[in-house]
Amino acid sequence: MSCILAVAQRGEAILNLNAAEVASSELNSPWLKQLAEAMHSTMLQKNGVGIAAPQVYVSKRLIIVASRPNPRYPDAPEMDAVVMVNPEILESSATTVLGEEGCLSVPDERGQVARAESIKLRYLTVAGEVVETLFSGFPARIVQHEIDHLNGVLFIQRL
Ligand code: ZN
Repeated sequence: MSCILAVAQRGEAILNLNAAEVASSELNSPWLKQLAEAMHSTMLQKNGVGIAAPQVYVSKRLIIVASRPNPRYPDAPEMDAVVMVNPEILESSATTVLGEEGCLSVPDERGQVARAESIKLRYLTVAGEVVETLFSGFPARIVQHEIDHLNGVLFIQRL
């Protein structure tokens, strides 16, 4: 039912932009809900564990994080998909860990990237509720990878 969006590929300018904040007038709007739903469907269809709006040609600060075991990440822990609007890392652990990453925008390339082991994060839900929470391990890695997309950075720039 839900539509599958085209995914921007490495080399396309939109992936290098600093994405704009979602405005308060956009919170809880039908278009924001539809965008989140279409991003979620696109991520699932492509076996991703996360996706950022710039990857579907929308330069806005919206990401989905959805760790789960799948053919691309067989050892990923299971969690419910979380849609995060204007996510902001408040604190990062000094401890970093190396782990393998790939990207729907960089198919056929994987690499070991150092990321903070745990992070404290603030974001808004699609409805505009403020959430502060901690992530560690693989979900923390996904959050950092997706926030990089909002800042125009691909994981291959961190290898
Ligand atoms: Zn990516």
